[in-house]
Amino acid sequence: MQLNADLTGQTVLVTGAPAAARRAIRRYRAAGATVHTLASPADFRSELLDGVVMVAAINDGDSGWLPLPETCRRRGVLLVNEEAAAPGGRVTLVGGGPGTDDLLTVRARQALLEADVVYFDRLAPHRNLTVLAPGAELIDVGKQPGHHKVKQADIENLMIQSALAGNNVVRLKGGDPFVFGRGGEEVISCAKAGVPVSVIPGVTSAISVPAAAGIPVTHREVSHMFTVVSGHAPLTDDEHLHLAGLGGTVVVLMGVGTLPQFTAGLRRAGMRADMPVAIVERGYSDSQRTTVSTLTGIVTAAGAARVKSPAILVIGEVVKLAHGCKETAGRLARLADSVGAQ
Ligand code: SAH
Repeated sequence: MQLNADLTGQTVLVTGAPAAARRAIRRYRAAGATVHTLASPADFRSELLDGVVMVAAINDGDSGWLPLPETCRRRGVLLVNEEAAAPGGRVTLVGGGPGTDDLLTVRARQALLEADVVYFDRLAPHRNLTVLAPGAELIDVGKQPGHHKVKQADIENLMIQSALAGNNVVRLKGGDPFVFGRGGEEVISCAKAGVPVSVIPGVTSAISVPAAAGIPVTHREVSHMFTVVSGHAPLTDDEHLHLAGLGGTVVVLMGVGTLPQFTAGLRRAGMRADMPVAIVERGYSDSQRTTVSTLTGIVTAAGAARVKSPAILVIGEVVKLAHGCKETAGRLARLADSVGAQ
């Protein structure tokens, strides 16, 4: 339940077992109320209603609460019945998609609704979390490129401790948790600590960000495969050779920093100098931008445009198909003409 009321200065009594009542307690506190709690009906005394504007009665299955509504009625205190919180003590890794709320899956939204705590990343859709995860404490563990705000081991520890304390923990990540997202490591750590863990896949930027720029990663008779590569560290010459040899689309994540090494490596491995290359920055944001050039021209073009992370690099003939992208239309038309002329 979402609570929009401002209860500042009001006292609310939340009744019910702590595990069942934990979300309601947090919600009423967030609404500004002074929250008193009562975990067991055996401890109820009429004085507990003194100064209380409202009782939130959590249905924890204990029949001892049955006389409570009548007592509240007699004392003129409003009583609201609420369902118990979903069982906690677990971690859900949620793929948040490429950055906008409307690319969250239905299952991801449900997990956020039920969350007690959300640990979120910089590239996950986090601007609207107060609405998407109304009952949750929101913790930013985002990493700026180059410096880690919270260390990976610390994130894992925090999640595990929070789940062991009975919380329903959501780890919200950009894209899909298992695509360069360290999701696998987090699953292993939770499992080792005996914490139940599940994974909700997300829309990966590897496919969706090229699509945002009108680039299909495969296209009949143009490319029948695509390889997703991390540009976090330079590749070996062997790897460049294999990639160039495949003849399909190459999609690079985290590749802005290693762009010169990567394009030079593919060139050494025999990839055509005029192979089309696109860099799509900040996909799905208001400032999304696409820079298009060729394998040998992209480093200069990216430098001139001051291309920055986060960005996706697409190398392959499919780049020419992006006619929907106004900004690059002129350049693409010239590229298409040059292909037509070949
Ligand atoms: N698990 C994520 C990827 C994490 S690696 C996924 O499946 O999408 C982080 C990299 O993803 C960034 O450096 C960038 O290359 C890419 N990325 C994620 N979101 C992006 C976006 N909205 N626009 C451009 N690139 C993005």
